[in-house]
Amino acid sequence: MQAERNSNHKMKLHRRSTTRPWVNSLCSKVGFTLLELVLAITIVGILSAVAYAKYINLSHSAKTATCKANQMTLESAQRMFYAKRCAAGLPGAYAEDKADLEEFLLPRYIPECTEDGGEIILLPNGAVSCSLPSHARH
Ligand SMILES: [Zn+2]
Repeated sequence: MQAERNSNHKMKLHRRSTTRPWVNSLCSKVGFTLLELVLAITIVGILSAVAYAKYINLSHSAKTATCKANQMTLESAQRMFYAKRCAAGLPGAYAEDKADLEEFLLPRYIPECTEDGGEIILLPNGAVSCSLPSHARH
């Protein structure tokens, strides 16, 4: 009896799907509902916002670290400038212009701050700092 009812049910389903295919496609369980799509898009949006914020933070950290490394490079050049003056018998003094340090840098270039609006500053005591407070070492 049960087997016969199942068979009749299958025949009805089969008949329905062949005579009215649009009903079959509307009742189909294949695919995503609107709610599922909205949830998936929301999750992807949240993940991309978190990833973008992380990228910006890492980018800022890398620029700060590069500026500090550039300051240390110029500070080493300041010490070489001082030592060269002493070796030449001149009174010890640090360079006041970054261009005077170029001969001690290899390759010969003056490293600059990596952030817009920042500038590396030579201090009178031979130390080097940046105009941006977050990059300052001294
Ligand atoms: Zn800087």
